[in-house]
Amino acid sequence: MNTQQELPASADVVIIGGGVCGCFIARELARYQLDIILIEKGPDVCEGASKGNGGTIHSGVNTDHGTLKATLCIKGNRLFPEIAEDLSVPLKTVGSLIVATSPEEVPLLDDMLENGRKNGVADARIIGRDEIARLEPHVRAIAAISAPSLRIVCPQRLVFALADNAAANGVHVGVNTEATDVLIENGKVRAVRTNRGDIRTRFAVNAAGVYADKVAEMAGAGDFKIIPRKGEYYILDKQAQWVSRNIFPLPGEHSKGACIFPTVDGNNLVGPNSDVVEDREDTSTTASVRRRVFELARRLVPELRQDDMISAFAGIRPTTETEDFIIGPTAVEGFINCAGIQSPGLTAAPAIAEMIVAIIGERTELKKKKGFKPKRKRAPRFADCSRKERDKLIREDPRHAHIICRCEIVTEKEIVDAIQEGIGATTLNGVKFRTRAGMGRCQGGFCRSRVAMILARELGVSPEKVLLRGSGSHLFVGGTKDLRKIVG
Ligand SMILES: Cc1cc2nc3c(=O)[nH]c(=O)nc-3n(C[C@H](O)[C@H](O)[C@H](O)COP(=O)(O)OP(=O)(O)OC[C@H]3O[C@@H](n4cnc5c(N)ncnc54)[C@H](O)[C@@H]3O)c2cc1C
Repeated sequence: MNTQQELPASADVVIIGGGVCGCFIARELARYQLDIILIEKGPDVCEGASKGNGGTIHSGVNTDHGTLKATLCIKGNRLFPEIAEDLSVPLKTVGSLIVATSPEEVPLLDDMLENGRKNGVADARIIGRDEIARLEPHVRAIAAISAPSLRIVCPQRLVFALADNAAANGVHVGVNTEATDVLIENGKVRAVRTNRGDIRTRFAVNAAGVYADKVAEMAGAGDFKIIPRKGEYYILDKQAQWVSRNIFPLPGEHSKGACIFPTVDGNNLVGPNSDVVEDREDTSTTASVRRRVFELARRLVPELRQDDMISAFAGIRPTTETEDFIIGPTAVEGFINCAGIQSPGLTAAPAIAEMIVAIIGERTELKKKKGFKPKRKRAPRFADCSRKERDKLIREDPRHAHIICRCEIVTEKEIVDAIQEGIGATTLNGVKFRTRAGMGRCQGGFCRSRVAMILARELGVSPEKVLLRGSGSHLFVGGTKDLRKIVG
């Protein structure tokens, strides 16, 4: 699908922000007879907090009881298996240990377990040193809460799948499309102004992440402030698999502390910190935070070494003073907030989407659409296939025999599919997060130029025009030899 194509001039609902919330809301609304436009200011969906998190679908044990985020976290966790199955997104239920490393911490586990029970997490229990050692031999702890319902997902592939499926069900997805104003008439939403023109609409859903306060101000409904909180993560080499489930320390004031946990793709991650930042776009990672985070994480896994790290990334949490989600209608008719979606927003997102649909349903009649397609079929990753399955794939399409990313075993056919299928990648990062090309040990040192040439070929542009992640992020200024020969 061409996400740059002209957008319709009107819609029933305009969703501002293509993160996990905006895309879940779009897919959920696509079940009804509505004209829906999702706009995203970045060059692709999944550009904000939804890109920069660890992919944990929390159990809800350690989310404060009585908050909206706790209720939606529990509901979201339960919704995930069916959604992942429908969208062909890898999801694993790995469980977690929230650990006490000193005798003084042990009583705190009882309080947290009680918090989890009140939230409705019935299967969590306290375990002792021997069971911890059996489950996680590299973890040093004297007691822990074991919560088996914690899951892990690839957040980027989830959001791409949601956007693909929403688009397949009629939602218009416009990237590089920024809401610059919300036009109000007689106290009601009339249009969303964008850099690509005005879109007349009755409902505007504000799912703009760290910019949600700015978007609310545009509508004259700005009664909250986003406090951006950065979290850095460190990706370990696949050979350094210290843990098989999420290991959390007891939480600090603003975060669950530095953790160590697995990803669906077989790496361990270490992090995150939680520090207030001025710049809402500051996703840099720093040596000083890295040292601090590794030091904290080594209290849980003493064998952990900074040398295990192959890469790092950061995300910005859109927190608010109340430390809870701000979801609901506003004094401006038709303007609905989905704001302050800090952790566990990824977990809660499917439940958030249901809540937004219910809010719209209270204001307009929602009629189910015939022929809604909940499924999005995708071929399994070549890397995950058996020898026999790989041979079959190669017979079907010889581009499967051309391995572009050697670390993650990604084929040319998979890269072409990532560009052509659904809301298709248009940048190197778009290909990387859809296929994992460039996410292995060499971090793209070998395959980046090859992926760039495939992108140039498939998009019909010269290699110099290929972008890393969006406007201005050019990689090449000219050729010293015909780079096209690299990919044939
Ligand atoms: C470090 C970190 C760790 C986390 N860990 C977890 C975790 O383990 N589990 C969990 O459940 N949650 C976690 N979270 C929280 C989770 O990632 C967020 O709650 C969730 O991604 C928020 O999604 P969103 O769609 O609301 O916002 P975003 O993903 O930020 O999406 C908002 C989108 O709006 C776009 N936008 C902004 N302004 C405009 C505009 N004017 N016009 C058009 N588009 C606009 C942005 O470009 C962005 O793409 C973590 C977050 C961070 C940062």
